Amino acid sequence: MAHSTPVPTSHADPVVQELVAALGENSVAADRDTLLAYECDGLALYKQRPRMVIWPNSTEQVSAAVRILHRFGVPIVPRGAGTGLSGGATPVENGALIQLSRMKRILDVNPTDRMARVEMGVINADLSAHVARFGLAYAPDPSSQTACTLGGNVAENAGGPHCYKYGATSLHVLSLKVVLSNGNITELGSPDADPIGYDLRTLFIGSEGTLGIATEAWVRLIPKPEIVETWLAPFASMDAACKAVSSIVASGIQPAAIEILDDRTIAAIEASVFAAGYPLDAAAVLLVEVDGAPIEVGRDGERIRGICQQFGALNIQFARDEDERKRLWKGRKGAFGAMGRVAPDLYVMDCVVPRSKLPAALDAIREICDRYKVRNANVFHAGDGNLHPNISYDGRDADETKRVLAAGEEIVKMCVALGGTLSGEHGIGIEKNIYMPLVFGAGELDAFANLRRAFDPDGLMNPGKVMPAALCGEIAGAMKR
Ligand SMILES: Cc1cc2nc3c(=O)[nH]c(=O)nc-3n(C[C@H](O)[C@H](O)[C@H](O)COP(=O)(O)OP(=O)(O)OC[C@H]3O[C@@H](n4cnc5c(N)ncnc54)[C@H](O)[C@@H]3O)c2cc1C
Repeated sequence: MAHSTPVPTSHADPVVQELVAALGENSVAADRDTLLAYECDGLALYKQRPRMVIWPNSTEQVSAAVRILHRFGVPIVPRGAGTGLSGGATPVENGALIQLSRMKRILDVNPTDRMARVEMGVINADLSAHVARFGLAYAPDPSSQTACTLGGNVAENAGGPHCYKYGATSLHVLSLKVVLSNGNITELGSPDADPIGYDLRTLFIGSEGTLGIATEAWVRLIPKPEIVETWLAPFASMDAACKAVSSIVASGIQPAAIEILDDRTIAAIEASVFAAGYPLDAAAVLLVEVDGAPIEVGRDGERIRGICQQFGALNIQFARDEDERKRLWKGRKGAFGAMGRVAPDLYVMDCVVPRSKLPAALDAIREICDRYKVRNANVFHAGDGNLHPNISYDGRDADETKRVLAAGEEIVKMCVALGGTLSGEHGIGIEKNIYMPLVFGAGELDAFANLRRAFDPDGLMNPGKVMPAALCGEIAGAMKR
Protein backbone atom coordinates (compact mmCIF):
# COMPACT_ATOMS: atom_id res chain seq x y z
CA MET A 1 0.00 0.00 0.00
CA ALA A 2 1.44 3.41 -0.93
CA HIS A 3 1.72 5.76 2.00
CA SER A 4 2.36 9.43 1.42
CA THR A 5 0.31 11.49 3.89
CA PRO A 6 1.36 11.95 7.54
CA VAL A 7 -0.14 9.40 9.91
CA PRO A 8 -0.41 9.45 13.69
CA THR A 9 2.17 7.33 15.49
CA SER A 10 2.14 5.88 18.98
CA HIS A 11 4.59 8.26 20.64
CA ALA A 12 4.46 6.34 23.90
CA ASP A 13 6.63 3.65 22.31
CA PRO A 14 10.34 4.56 22.73
CA VAL A 15 11.24 2.61 19.57
CA VAL A 16 8.73 4.65 17.58
CA GLN A 17 10.14 7.85 19.09
CA GLU A 18 13.65 6.99 17.91
CA LEU A 19 12.44 5.93 14.48
CA VAL A 20 10.50 9.19 14.05
CA ALA A 21 13.56 11.18 15.12
CA ALA A 22 15.72 9.34 12.56
CA LEU A 23 13.32 9.04 9.58
CA GLY A 24 10.66 11.71 10.16
CA GLU A 25 7.05 11.66 11.32
CA ASN A 26 5.75 10.75 7.86
CA SER A 27 7.79 7.54 7.69
CA VAL A 28 6.56 5.64 10.74
CA ALA A 29 3.07 4.58 11.83
CA ALA A 30 1.93 2.73 14.93
CA ASP A 31 -1.74 3.69 15.12
CA ARG A 32 -4.31 0.92 15.13
CA ASP A 33 -6.11 1.89 11.92
CA THR A 34 -2.96 1.96 9.80
CA LEU A 35 -1.60 -1.26 11.29
CA LEU A 36 -4.85 -3.07 10.50
CA ALA A 37 -4.08 -2.91 6.75
CA TYR A 38 -0.80 -4.80 7.28
CA GLU A 39 -2.06 -7.80 9.26
CA CYS A 40 -1.38 -10.27 6.46
CA ASP A 41 -0.11 -10.63 2.91
CA GLY A 42 -1.84 -12.64 0.17
CA LEU A 43 -2.12 -15.61 2.56
CA ALA A 44 -5.14 -14.44 4.54
CA LEU A 45 -5.30 -17.65 6.59
CA TYR A 46 -2.90 -16.13 9.17
CA LYS A 47 -3.05 -12.64 10.66
CA GLN A 48 -0.92 -10.71 13.11
CA ARG A 49 -0.89 -6.95 13.70
CA PRO A 50 2.63 -5.42 13.58
CA ARG A 51 3.94 -3.12 16.33
CA MET A 52 4.79 -0.48 13.71
CA VAL A 53 5.21 0.07 9.99
CA ILE A 54 8.21 1.96 8.59
CA TRP A 55 8.49 3.50 5.10
CA PRO A 56 12.15 4.32 4.38
CA ASN A 57 13.03 6.17 1.17
CA SER A 58 16.71 5.24 0.82
CA THR A 59 19.21 2.51 1.68
CA GLU A 60 20.60 4.80 4.39
CA GLN A 61 17.14 5.14 5.96
CA VAL A 62 16.66 1.35 5.89
CA SER A 63 20.01 1.00 7.61
CA ALA A 64 19.16 3.65 10.24
CA ALA A 65 15.83 1.98 11.02
CA VAL A 66 17.39 -1.49 11.25
CA ARG A 67 20.11 -0.22 13.62
CA ILE A 68 17.43 1.16 15.98
CA LEU A 69 15.32 -2.00 15.82
CA HIS A 70 18.41 -4.16 16.35
CA ARG A 71 19.39 -2.17 19.45
CA PHE A 72 15.90 -2.63 20.93
CA GLY A 73 15.74 -6.30 19.86
CA VAL A 74 12.62 -5.74 17.74
CA PRO A 75 11.96 -8.44 15.07
CA ILE A 76 11.94 -7.12 11.49
CA VAL A 77 9.77 -8.19 8.56
CA PRO A 78 10.67 -6.71 5.14
CA ARG A 79 7.67 -6.05 2.93
CA GLY A 80 7.26 -5.14 -0.73
CA ALA A 81 3.69 -5.05 -2.03
CA GLY A 82 2.36 -7.80 0.25
CA THR A 83 1.22 -9.98 -2.68
CA GLY A 84 3.19 -12.96 -1.34
CA LEU A 85 1.12 -16.12 -0.99
CA SER A 86 3.07 -18.01 1.69
CA GLY A 87 2.89 -15.50 4.56
CA GLY A 88 6.47 -14.24 4.18
CA ALA A 89 5.41 -10.65 4.82
CA THR A 90 2.94 -11.53 7.59
CA PRO A 91 4.01 -9.50 10.64
CA VAL A 92 5.49 -11.23 13.68
CA GLU A 93 4.28 -10.48 17.17
CA ASN A 94 5.71 -7.21 18.52
CA GLY A 95 7.68 -6.81 15.29
CA ALA A 96 8.23 -4.00 12.78
CA LEU A 97 7.34 -4.07 9.10
CA ILE A 98 9.81 -2.30 6.83
CA GLN A 99 7.88 -1.44 3.71
CA LEU A 100 10.00 -0.72 0.61
CA SER A 101 7.23 0.80 -1.53
CA ARG A 102 8.70 4.32 -1.50
CA MET A 103 11.98 3.08 -2.95
CA LYS A 104 10.72 2.79 -6.52
CA ARG A 105 13.30 4.59 -8.63
CA ILE A 106 14.85 3.08 -11.76
CA LEU A 107 18.32 4.52 -11.19
CA ASP A 108 20.14 3.60 -14.38
CA VAL A 109 19.56 1.75 -17.65
CA ASN A 110 22.56 0.51 -19.61
CA PRO A 111 21.20 -0.68 -22.98
CA THR A 112 24.66 -1.55 -24.28
CA ASP A 113 25.35 -4.04 -21.52
CA ARG A 114 21.63 -4.85 -21.20
CA MET A 115 21.21 -4.16 -17.51
CA ALA A 116 19.49 -1.75 -15.14
CA ARG A 117 20.06 -0.51 -11.58
CA VAL A 118 16.80 -0.44 -9.67
CA GLU A 119 15.49 0.18 -6.18
CA MET A 120 13.68 -2.77 -4.64
CA GLY A 121 10.29 -1.08 -4.38
CA VAL A 122 10.02 -0.84 -8.20
CA ILE A 123 6.93 -2.67 -9.43
CA ASN A 124 7.88 -5.57 -11.70
CA ALA A 125 5.81 -4.50 -14.75
CA ASP A 126 7.07 -0.91 -14.51
CA LEU A 127 10.62 -2.04 -15.29
CA SER A 128 9.69 -3.75 -18.57
CA ALA A 129 7.49 -0.78 -19.50
CA HIS A 130 10.42 1.60 -18.80
CA VAL A 131 13.04 -0.31 -20.82
CA ALA A 132 10.74 -1.12 -23.77
CA ARG A 133 12.01 2.08 -25.49
CA PHE A 134 15.42 0.38 -25.78
CA GLY A 135 13.88 -2.80 -27.24
CA LEU A 136 14.56 -4.55 -23.92
CA ALA A 137 12.48 -6.33 -21.25
CA TYR A 138 12.87 -7.78 -17.75
CA ALA A 139 12.04 -11.48 -18.18
CA PRO A 140 10.57 -12.74 -14.85
CA ASP A 141 6.83 -12.05 -15.12
CA PRO A 142 4.83 -13.23 -12.09
CA SER A 143 1.11 -13.02 -12.75
CA SER A 144 1.06 -10.38 -9.99
CA GLN A 145 3.54 -8.26 -11.94
CA THR A 146 1.41 -5.11 -12.00
CA ALA A 147 1.55 -5.01 -8.18
CA CYS A 148 4.51 -6.98 -6.81
CA THR A 149 7.92 -5.41 -6.23
CA LEU A 150 11.33 -6.49 -7.46
CA GLY A 151 12.41 -6.82 -3.81
CA GLY A 152 9.61 -9.32 -3.16
CA ASN A 153 10.60 -11.12 -6.40
CA VAL A 154 14.22 -11.36 -5.24
CA ALA A 155 13.20 -12.59 -1.79
CA GLU A 156 10.90 -15.28 -3.25
CA ASN A 157 13.00 -16.09 -6.34
CA ALA A 158 9.75 -15.38 -8.19
CA GLY A 159 8.83 -17.14 -11.39
CA GLY A 160 6.06 -16.52 -13.90
CA PRO A 161 4.65 -18.01 -17.10
CA HIS A 162 7.69 -17.04 -19.22
CA CYS A 163 10.21 -18.36 -16.68
CA TYR A 164 9.72 -21.75 -18.37
CA LYS A 165 12.01 -20.44 -21.11
CA TYR A 166 13.88 -17.60 -19.42
CA GLY A 167 14.36 -18.93 -15.88
CA ALA A 168 13.29 -17.49 -12.51
CA THR A 169 14.54 -14.31 -10.81
CA SER A 170 17.88 -15.79 -9.70
CA LEU A 171 19.05 -15.90 -13.35
CA HIS A 172 18.27 -12.21 -13.85
CA VAL A 173 19.85 -10.51 -10.82
CA LEU A 174 23.52 -9.58 -11.17
CA SER A 175 24.14 -7.92 -7.82
CA LEU A 176 22.30 -6.76 -4.73
CA LYS A 177 22.74 -3.99 -2.17
CA VAL A 178 21.62 -5.40 1.15
CA VAL A 179 21.10 -4.07 4.69
CA LEU A 180 22.07 -6.77 7.19
CA SER A 181 20.31 -7.37 10.51
CA ASN A 182 22.72 -5.07 12.41
CA GLY A 183 22.17 -2.21 9.93
CA ASN A 184 25.43 -2.68 7.99
CA ILE A 185 25.20 -2.15 4.23
CA THR A 186 26.86 -4.67 1.90
CA GLU A 187 27.03 -5.56 -1.81
CA LEU A 188 26.47 -9.14 -2.95
CA GLY A 189 27.64 -10.10 -6.45
CA SER A 190 28.76 -7.74 -9.18
CA PRO A 191 27.17 -6.32 -12.34
CA ASP A 192 30.46 -6.70 -14.19
CA ALA A 193 31.41 -10.37 -13.96
CA ASP A 194 30.34 -13.65 -12.48
CA PRO A 195 31.29 -13.54 -8.81
CA ILE A 196 34.44 -15.14 -7.54
CA GLY A 197 34.51 -16.64 -4.06
CA TYR A 198 31.27 -17.53 -2.30
CA ASP A 199 28.23 -16.60 -4.39
CA LEU A 200 26.27 -14.77 -1.70
CA ARG A 201 24.01 -13.15 -4.30
CA THR A 202 22.32 -16.43 -5.21
CA LEU A 203 22.27 -17.42 -1.54
CA PHE A 204 20.29 -14.26 -0.77
CA ILE A 205 17.83 -14.74 -3.67
CA GLY A 206 14.94 -16.81 -2.34
CA SER A 207 15.87 -16.21 1.31
CA GLU A 208 12.43 -14.66 2.01
CA GLY A 209 13.64 -11.72 4.08
CA THR A 210 15.51 -13.90 6.58
CA LEU A 211 19.06 -12.81 5.67
CA GLY A 212 18.62 -9.05 5.33
CA ILE A 213 16.77 -6.39 3.36
CA ALA A 214 17.60 -5.89 -0.32
CA THR A 215 17.44 -2.21 -1.25
CA GLU A 216 18.94 -2.04 -4.75
CA ALA A 217 19.97 -4.40 -7.56
CA TRP A 218 21.58 -4.52 -10.95
CA VAL A 219 19.32 -6.73 -13.05
CA ARG A 220 19.81 -8.34 -16.43
CA LEU A 221 17.59 -7.25 -19.34
CA ILE A 222 16.75 -9.35 -22.40
CA PRO A 223 16.13 -8.19 -25.96
CA LYS A 224 12.44 -8.20 -26.77
CA PRO A 225 11.77 -11.20 -29.06
CA GLU A 226 11.32 -10.36 -32.75
CA ILE A 227 7.91 -12.00 -32.89
CA VAL A 228 5.56 -13.81 -30.53
CA GLU A 229 2.85 -16.35 -31.33
CA THR A 230 0.17 -17.20 -28.77
CA TRP A 231 -2.69 -19.67 -28.94
CA LEU A 232 -5.19 -21.48 -26.78
CA ALA A 233 -5.78 -25.21 -27.25
CA PRO A 234 -8.95 -26.68 -25.66
CA PHE A 235 -8.95 -30.34 -24.53
CA ALA A 236 -11.76 -32.74 -23.67
CA SER A 237 -9.87 -34.01 -20.61
CA MET A 238 -7.18 -32.75 -18.21
CA ASP A 239 -5.28 -35.98 -18.86
CA ALA A 240 -5.02 -35.20 -22.60
CA ALA A 241 -3.84 -31.62 -21.89
CA CYS A 242 -1.12 -32.88 -19.51
CA LYS A 243 0.00 -35.57 -21.97
CA ALA A 244 0.27 -32.93 -24.71
CA VAL A 245 2.57 -30.90 -22.42
CA SER A 246 4.81 -33.90 -21.73
CA SER A 247 4.98 -34.63 -25.44
CA ILE A 248 5.87 -30.99 -26.31
CA VAL A 249 8.66 -31.01 -23.73
CA ALA A 250 9.93 -34.41 -24.88
CA SER A 251 10.04 -33.16 -28.50
CA GLY A 252 12.82 -30.76 -27.54
CA ILE A 253 10.93 -27.63 -28.62
CA GLN A 254 11.27 -24.71 -26.21
CA PRO A 255 8.05 -22.69 -25.94
CA ALA A 256 8.21 -19.42 -23.97
CA ALA A 257 5.23 -20.44 -21.82
CA ILE A 258 2.88 -23.43 -21.39
CA GLU A 259 0.04 -22.86 -18.94
CA ILE A 260 -2.97 -25.06 -18.13
CA LEU A 261 -6.32 -23.86 -16.77
CA ASP A 262 -9.04 -26.31 -15.72
CA ASP A 263 -12.79 -26.09 -16.36
CA ARG A 264 -13.60 -24.52 -12.96
CA THR A 265 -10.99 -21.81 -13.48
CA ILE A 266 -12.34 -21.14 -16.98
CA ALA A 267 -15.87 -20.81 -15.57
CA ALA A 268 -14.71 -18.29 -12.92
CA ILE A 269 -12.74 -16.26 -15.48
CA GLU A 270 -15.55 -16.15 -18.03
CA ALA A 271 -18.01 -14.92 -15.40
CA SER A 272 -15.63 -12.11 -14.35
CA VAL A 273 -14.13 -8.88 -15.68
CA PHE A 274 -11.18 -11.00 -16.86
CA ALA A 275 -13.38 -12.86 -19.40
CA ALA A 276 -11.12 -13.79 -22.31
CA GLY A 277 -13.36 -15.88 -24.55
CA TYR A 278 -12.08 -19.23 -23.20
CA PRO A 279 -14.35 -22.17 -24.22
CA LEU A 280 -16.74 -23.10 -21.40
CA ASP A 281 -17.15 -26.66 -22.68
CA ALA A 282 -13.42 -27.58 -22.42
CA ALA A 283 -12.19 -29.73 -19.53
CA ALA A 284 -8.88 -27.89 -19.75
CA VAL A 285 -7.12 -25.37 -21.98
CA LEU A 286 -3.46 -25.06 -22.81
CA LEU A 287 -2.18 -21.50 -23.29
CA VAL A 288 1.03 -21.66 -25.30
CA GLU A 289 3.42 -18.94 -26.42
CA VAL A 290 6.44 -19.25 -28.69
CA ASP A 291 8.83 -16.35 -29.25
CA GLY A 292 12.05 -15.61 -31.13
CA ALA A 293 13.02 -15.15 -34.78
CA PRO A 294 10.17 -15.57 -37.35
CA ILE A 295 11.60 -18.74 -38.88
CA GLU A 296 11.90 -20.64 -35.57
CA VAL A 297 8.58 -19.33 -34.23
CA GLY A 298 6.80 -20.47 -37.41
CA ARG A 299 8.43 -23.91 -37.32
CA ASP A 300 8.07 -24.56 -33.56
CA GLY A 301 4.52 -23.18 -33.43
CA GLU A 302 3.38 -25.55 -36.16
CA ARG A 303 4.98 -28.55 -34.46
CA ILE A 304 3.42 -27.71 -31.08
CA ARG A 305 -0.03 -27.21 -32.58
CA GLY A 306 0.41 -30.57 -34.32
CA ILE A 307 1.13 -32.25 -30.98
CA CYS A 308 -1.91 -30.59 -29.38
CA GLN A 309 -4.11 -31.88 -32.22
CA GLN A 310 -2.64 -35.35 -31.81
CA PHE A 311 -3.97 -35.29 -28.21
CA GLY A 312 -7.40 -34.18 -29.36
CA ALA A 313 -7.25 -30.38 -29.19
CA LEU A 314 -10.07 -28.90 -31.27
CA ASN A 315 -10.76 -25.35 -32.37
CA ILE A 316 -7.38 -23.88 -31.44
CA GLN A 317 -7.76 -20.11 -30.93
CA PHE A 318 -4.85 -18.23 -32.50
CA ALA A 319 -4.02 -14.64 -31.47
CA ARG A 320 -3.84 -12.72 -34.74
CA ASP A 321 -2.54 -9.48 -33.27
CA GLU A 322 -1.26 -7.94 -30.03
CA ASP A 323 -4.79 -7.14 -28.82
CA GLU A 324 -5.84 -10.77 -29.19
CA ARG A 325 -2.66 -11.91 -27.48
CA LYS A 326 -3.42 -9.59 -24.55
CA ARG A 327 -6.95 -10.95 -24.41
CA LEU A 328 -5.74 -14.57 -24.19
CA TRP A 329 -3.32 -13.65 -21.39
CA LYS A 330 -5.89 -11.51 -19.55
CA GLY A 331 -7.80 -14.61 -18.45
CA ARG A 332 -4.70 -16.41 -17.20
CA LYS A 333 -3.21 -13.39 -15.43
CA GLY A 334 -6.57 -12.51 -13.86
CA ALA A 335 -7.40 -16.10 -12.82
CA PHE A 336 -6.79 -15.63 -9.07
CA GLY A 337 -8.71 -12.35 -9.10
CA ALA A 338 -11.62 -14.03 -10.90
CA MET A 339 -11.91 -16.56 -8.06
CA GLY A 340 -13.10 -13.67 -5.89
CA ARG A 341 -16.52 -14.34 -7.43
CA VAL A 342 -16.57 -17.89 -6.06
CA ALA A 343 -16.03 -17.05 -2.36
CA PRO A 344 -14.71 -14.16 -0.25
CA ASP A 345 -11.30 -15.80 0.37
CA LEU A 346 -8.86 -17.79 -1.73
CA TYR A 347 -6.04 -20.08 -0.65
CA VAL A 348 -3.59 -20.22 -3.57
CA MET A 349 -1.30 -23.19 -3.09
CA ASP A 350 2.01 -23.79 -4.84
CA CYS A 351 3.53 -27.27 -5.17
CA VAL A 352 5.68 -29.05 -7.71
CA VAL A 353 5.45 -32.57 -9.12
CA PRO A 354 7.39 -34.25 -11.93
CA ARG A 355 5.59 -33.31 -15.17
CA SER A 356 4.70 -36.94 -15.86
CA LYS A 357 2.84 -37.04 -12.52
CA LEU A 358 0.59 -34.03 -13.28
CA PRO A 359 -2.54 -36.11 -14.15
CA ALA A 360 -2.18 -38.25 -10.99
CA ALA A 361 -1.63 -35.15 -8.83
CA LEU A 362 -4.66 -33.36 -10.30
CA ASP A 363 -6.90 -36.39 -9.73
CA ALA A 364 -5.67 -36.60 -6.14
CA ILE A 365 -6.25 -32.86 -5.55
CA ARG A 366 -9.88 -33.14 -6.69
CA GLU A 367 -10.41 -36.26 -4.55
CA ILE A 368 -8.91 -34.59 -1.45
CA CYS A 369 -10.91 -31.39 -1.91
CA ASP A 370 -14.15 -33.31 -2.53
CA ARG A 371 -13.53 -35.37 0.61
CA TYR A 372 -13.04 -32.21 2.70
CA LYS A 373 -15.99 -30.55 0.92
CA VAL A 374 -13.95 -27.53 -0.19
CA ARG A 375 -14.09 -25.79 -3.58
CA ASN A 376 -11.03 -26.38 -5.75
CA ALA A 377 -9.90 -25.02 -9.14
CA ASN A 378 -6.51 -25.41 -10.81
CA VAL A 379 -4.36 -23.15 -12.95
CA PHE A 380 -0.69 -23.85 -13.32
CA HIS A 381 2.70 -23.55 -15.02
CA ALA A 382 2.43 -26.97 -16.69
CA GLY A 383 5.84 -26.86 -18.36
CA ASP A 384 7.51 -26.77 -14.94
CA GLY A 385 5.12 -29.20 -13.20
CA ASN A 386 4.33 -26.24 -10.93
CA LEU A 387 0.77 -26.65 -9.64
CA HIS A 388 -1.42 -23.94 -8.13
CA PRO A 389 -4.34 -25.73 -6.48
CA ASN A 390 -6.76 -22.97 -5.47
CA ILE A 391 -9.27 -23.41 -2.68
CA SER A 392 -12.07 -20.84 -2.41
CA TYR A 393 -13.50 -20.41 1.09
CA ASP A 394 -15.07 -18.03 3.55
CA GLY A 395 -12.59 -17.11 6.28
CA ARG A 396 -15.46 -16.18 8.63
CA ASP A 397 -16.49 -19.84 8.68
CA ALA A 398 -14.15 -21.50 11.20
CA ASP A 399 -15.14 -25.03 10.23
CA GLU A 400 -14.61 -24.42 6.52
CA THR A 401 -11.23 -22.77 7.25
CA LYS A 402 -10.21 -25.84 9.25
CA ARG A 403 -11.15 -28.10 6.34
CA VAL A 404 -9.20 -25.89 3.89
CA LEU A 405 -6.06 -26.24 6.03
CA ALA A 406 -6.52 -30.00 6.36
CA ALA A 407 -7.00 -30.40 2.59
CA GLY A 408 -3.94 -28.19 1.99
CA GLU A 409 -1.81 -30.38 4.23
CA GLU A 410 -2.85 -33.54 2.37
CA ILE A 411 -2.14 -31.90 -0.98
CA VAL A 412 1.38 -30.90 0.09
CA LYS A 413 2.12 -34.39 1.39
CA MET A 414 0.68 -36.03 -1.74
CA CYS A 415 2.91 -33.87 -4.02
CA VAL A 416 6.01 -34.76 -1.99
CA ALA A 417 5.04 -38.45 -2.10
CA LEU A 418 4.81 -38.22 -5.92
CA GLY A 419 8.44 -37.08 -6.02
CA GLY A 420 7.71 -33.36 -5.98
CA THR A 421 8.50 -30.56 -3.59
CA LEU A 422 6.95 -27.86 -1.39
CA SER A 423 7.07 -24.79 -3.62
CA GLY A 424 7.80 -23.78 -7.20
CA GLU A 425 7.78 -20.01 -6.75
CA HIS A 426 5.68 -18.71 -3.84
CA GLY A 427 8.21 -19.69 -1.17
CA ILE A 428 7.81 -21.38 2.20
CA GLY A 429 7.00 -18.48 4.57
CA ILE A 430 4.76 -19.56 7.43
CA GLU A 431 2.56 -21.61 5.16
CA LYS A 432 4.92 -24.53 4.70
CA ASN A 433 7.74 -24.06 7.25
CA ILE A 434 6.44 -27.03 9.25
CA TYR A 435 6.76 -29.24 6.17
CA MET A 436 10.48 -28.56 5.63
CA PRO A 437 11.40 -31.86 7.37
CA LEU A 438 9.38 -33.67 4.65
CA VAL A 439 12.01 -32.75 2.05
CA PHE A 440 15.16 -32.03 4.09
CA GLY A 441 17.03 -34.22 6.56
CA ALA A 442 18.27 -33.13 9.98
CA GLY A 443 21.76 -32.40 8.62
CA GLU A 444 20.47 -30.09 5.91
CA LEU A 445 18.11 -28.27 8.28
CA ASP A 446 20.97 -27.78 10.72
CA ALA A 447 23.14 -26.33 7.93
CA PHE A 448 20.32 -23.92 7.00
CA ALA A 449 19.96 -22.81 10.63
CA ASN A 450 23.72 -22.23 10.98
CA LEU A 451 23.81 -20.25 7.78
CA ARG A 452 20.93 -18.10 8.93
CA ARG A 453 22.63 -17.43 12.28
CA ALA A 454 25.79 -16.34 10.44
CA PHE A 455 23.79 -13.55 8.74
CA ASP A 456 21.49 -12.81 11.69
CA PRO A 457 22.99 -13.96 15.02
CA ASP A 458 20.15 -12.40 17.06
CA GLY A 459 17.35 -14.05 15.08
CA LEU A 460 15.60 -10.77 14.28
CA MET A 461 15.14 -11.09 10.50
CA ASN A 462 11.70 -12.46 9.66
CA PRO A 463 11.71 -15.02 12.51
CA GLY A 464 9.50 -18.08 12.16
CA LYS A 465 9.55 -17.89 8.36
CA VAL A 466 10.96 -20.64 6.10
CA MET A 467 12.13 -22.72 9.07
CA PRO A 468 9.99 -23.61 12.08
CA ALA A 469 11.15 -21.34 14.94
CA ALA A 470 12.14 -24.39 17.00
CA LEU A 471 14.68 -25.42 14.35
CA CYS A 472 16.23 -21.97 14.26
CA GLY A 473 16.46 -21.10 17.93
CA GLU A 474 14.53 -17.94 17.10
CA ILE A 475 12.49 -15.66 19.25
CA ALA A 476 9.83 -17.92 20.74
CA GLY A 477 6.23 -17.29 19.81
CA ALA A 478 7.18 -14.95 16.98
CA MET A 479 4.18 -16.09 14.98
CA LYS A 480 0.83 -17.26 16.22
CA ARG A 481 -0.58 -20.16 14.21
C1 LIG B 1 -2.67 -12.72 -8.19
C2 LIG B 1 -1.30 -13.23 -7.82
C3 LIG B 1 -0.54 -13.87 -8.79
C4 LIG B 1 0.75 -14.33 -8.46
N1 LIG B 1 1.49 -14.93 -9.44
C5 LIG B 1 2.77 -15.30 -9.18
C6 LIG B 1 3.59 -15.89 -10.19
O1 LIG B 1 3.17 -16.09 -11.35
N2 LIG B 1 4.86 -16.22 -9.86
C7 LIG B 1 5.36 -16.00 -8.61
O2 LIG B 1 6.53 -16.31 -8.37
N3 LIG B 1 4.61 -15.47 -7.63
C8 LIG B 1 3.35 -15.09 -7.88
N4 LIG B 1 2.58 -14.53 -6.89
C9 LIG B 1 3.14 -14.37 -5.52
C10 LIG B 1 3.81 -13.00 -5.25
O3 LIG B 1 3.29 -12.00 -6.09
C11 LIG B 1 5.32 -13.10 -5.42
O4 LIG B 1 5.86 -13.94 -4.41
C12 LIG B 1 6.05 -11.75 -5.34
O5 LIG B 1 7.42 -11.97 -5.60
C13 LIG B 1 5.90 -11.05 -4.00
O6 LIG B 1 6.33 -9.70 -4.15
P1 LIG B 1 5.86 -8.58 -3.11
O7 LIG B 1 6.54 -7.31 -3.47
O8 LIG B 1 4.40 -8.53 -3.02
O9 LIG B 1 6.50 -9.16 -1.78
P2 LIG B 1 5.85 -9.32 -0.33
O10 LIG B 1 4.64 -10.17 -0.39
O11 LIG B 1 5.73 -8.00 0.31
O12 LIG B 1 7.01 -10.13 0.39
C14 LIG B 1 7.32 -11.45 -0.01
C15 LIG B 1 8.54 -11.93 0.77
O13 LIG B 1 9.66 -11.16 0.40
C16 LIG B 1 10.25 -10.52 1.53
N5 LIG B 1 10.71 -9.22 1.03
C17 LIG B 1 9.98 -8.28 0.39
N6 LIG B 1 10.76 -7.27 0.00
C18 LIG B 1 12.02 -7.57 0.43
C19 LIG B 1 13.26 -6.92 0.32
N7 LIG B 1 13.40 -5.75 -0.31
N8 LIG B 1 14.35 -7.51 0.88
C20 LIG B 1 14.24 -8.71 1.51
N9 LIG B 1 13.08 -9.37 1.63
C21 LIG B 1 11.98 -8.81 1.08
C22 LIG B 1 9.15 -10.48 2.57
O14 LIG B 1 9.67 -10.46 3.88
C23 LIG B 1 8.43 -11.78 2.27
O15 LIG B 1 9.10 -12.84 2.89
C24 LIG B 1 1.28 -14.10 -7.15
C25 LIG B 1 0.50 -13.45 -6.20
C26 LIG B 1 -0.77 -13.02 -6.51
C27 LIG B 1 -1.57 -12.31 -5.45
